[in-house]
Amino acid sequence: MKNSYSNIFSFNKNILKKSIKYLNNSNIVGLPTETVYGLGGNAYSKKSIEKIYKLKGRPKSNPLIVHYFDLKDASKDIVINERFRKLYAQLCPGPITFVLKKKYGSKINPLGVAKLNTVAVRFPKHKIIRSILKNINFPLAMPSANKSTNVSPVTAKDVCDEFKRKIKLIIDGGKCKIGIESTVIDLSNEPRILRPGIIDKTTIEKILKKKMKNIKNNKIVSPGMMQKHYSPGIPVTINQKKHDGKSAFIYLGDKYYNKSKFFSLSKNFNLNEAASNLYKIFRLIKKKGFKKIQIGKIPNLRSGIAINDRIKRASNS
Ligand code: AMP
Ligand code: MG
Repeated sequence: MKNSYSNIFSFNKNILKKSIKYLNNSNIVGLPTETVYGLGGNAYSKKSIEKIYKLKGRPKSNPLIVHYFDLKDASKDIVINERFRKLYAQLCPGPITFVLKKKYGSKINPLGVAKLNTVAVRFPKHKIIRSILKNINFPLAMPSANKSTNVSPVTAKDVCDEFKRKIKLIIDGGKCKIGIESTVIDLSNEPRILRPGIIDKTTIEKILKKKMKNIKNNKIVSPGMMQKHYSPGIPVTINQKKHDGKSAFIYLGDKYYNKSKFFSLSKNFNLNEAASNLYKIFRLIKKKGFKKIQIGKIPNLRSGIAINDRIKRASNS
């Protein structure tokens, strides 16, 4: 069924067939996951990978995450190690990406992994993307469905707002539950978190029975992890105590709940909820025509670490 945006479609058997046909022909499809919406294309096809980089305006040095249905599928392309097995068993499918050594003979197009000998793999949980992955015989290279450096999309309409008619098919899977990008962990060497997410360091350490080094907020630890990123397109200042009277003010709690310039990430200080609302609120504020965003202090624990990582990068614009 068509929505008012004519390239957004609800999911059904016909759309499943249509999206598989598109992907088989090296076309790009806008797809929902539990984290954010992605631009999916055949990870084995040079043509698909080139289309993804071109659409996003993404630097070729920034590798893509490759998405699989399960470990059996991924084992064609990656060198599996014990730590990965443990984390996979506990956390997958889910919002976590693993950087692993690429297997000799893997068919992943070298452009998709910025010619590295490692590959970032994920096993998304959202049922729409899982039914697509189950019905194709290649993995999906899939970055977030936004122009490079912009805020990631959390609804099908956000994807359409980013690319207009340049994408012919966007599947509507509702608002993304998690709302920020996956945790990225490097397991190709000593384990370390490259990008914080909802699955936090403590959870990973418990499973691995191993302490990991802290990453410094905002440090570039992985190719393409630019300082300027996740930008709503207007200036952002963080750790703000006082409203300047004009800007949109983002905060935690319900202190200013009926004031039009104030936007709460979570009324009851729930950090997961706050993370899931962040990009939605960035886009809303931009649409309302504010010229600047101020953000109050966010506790730097659990999902707050991921929120602080994203807002710090947004403030570097
Ligand atoms: P995005 O696709 O926008 O969610 O970003 C994916 C991020 O994963 C990239 O910016 C990289 O920082 C990271 N990544 C992907 N592949 C690799 C890799 N082979 N090694 C290290 N980091 C990677
Ligand atoms: Mg991205």
